[in-house]
Amino acid sequence: MTRPQPVTGRDNAYFWEGVAKGDVLIQKCTACGSLRHPPSPMCPDCQSLDWTTVKATGQAVLHSYTICHHPLPPWEAGPYAVALIDLEVEDSDARPRIVCGTRGIANEDLRIEMPLNLVFEDGLVFAGPAQEGGAS
Ligand SMILES: [Zn+2]
Repeated sequence: MTRPQPVTGRDNAYFWEGVAKGDVLIQKCTACGSLRHPPSPMCPDCQSLDWTTVKATGQAVLHSYTICHHPLPPWEAGPYAVALIDLEVEDSDARPRIVCGTRGIANEDLRIEMPLNLVFEDGLVFAGPAQEGGAS
């Protein structure tokens, strides 16, 4: 069985279209400037329906994680990590969080607050080891 692909709709299509091109896009309210994720039609701070997107730089920090041992989906070799990461975003001090898997980091090497770089694979985004010089 192959990994199921994300279900996209009106509210989250921008996110997955960005990931397909190697970018993580975060919603930015054009009324108050706050960033939000996961995708939603309305700003939780000012209730505006107007938004644009800003790009994550590709650098992130591990906020937290868990190791899943059982049951394993058929497309994962387990045990596998599920990470909650704080994204660095262009022109902002905000650090929106996303949930993702990991690539290139052994589960036992995960450390809270470790630097990470985004890795794009199979139409999805993962947390990978930090690269010197930052993301390309
Ligand atoms: Zn707002």
